Amino acid sequence: MLFCPRCRAEYRAGFRRCSDCGEVLVPSLPPEEPRKINELVPICELENLYEGDQITRQLEKHGILSIIEKGMVLVEAKDEERAAEIVKVFIAAPPICGACGSEQDFEAKFCDQCGAKLPPPLKE
Ligand SMILES: [Zn+2]
Ligand SMILES: [Zn+2]
Repeated sequence: MLFCPRCRAEYRAGFRRCSDCGEVLVPSLPPEEPRKINELVPICELENLYEGDQITRQLEKHGILSIIEKGMVLVEAKDEERAAEIVKVFIAAPPICGACGSEQDFEAKFCDQCGAKLPPPLKE
């Protein structure tokens, strides 16, 4: 088994780099450092869990730790400004079809490329 030292994903032998972050894989991971969570501040209110999942994943990609609590996305106070900016950009981005990856209109309910059902539009 191989591991990505950055995102800690597991890979089968034969892979050399992490497909997500391009990091060279290592045979074993260093022990996980306990992440210190400082003061948390809410940056946006969620319409649904799907949305929250998308947003936390987006923030994680930028190295920002976030949690969902009582329908709010919380981040550490030091990340507040950056996280708010990322969320703003993310929410403003056109929806992407989960099946074929093409960009869709905000109003579209079905993908105009492959016909897959699109998630409900995200609230401002
Ligand atoms: Zn990785
Ligand atoms: Zn599609």
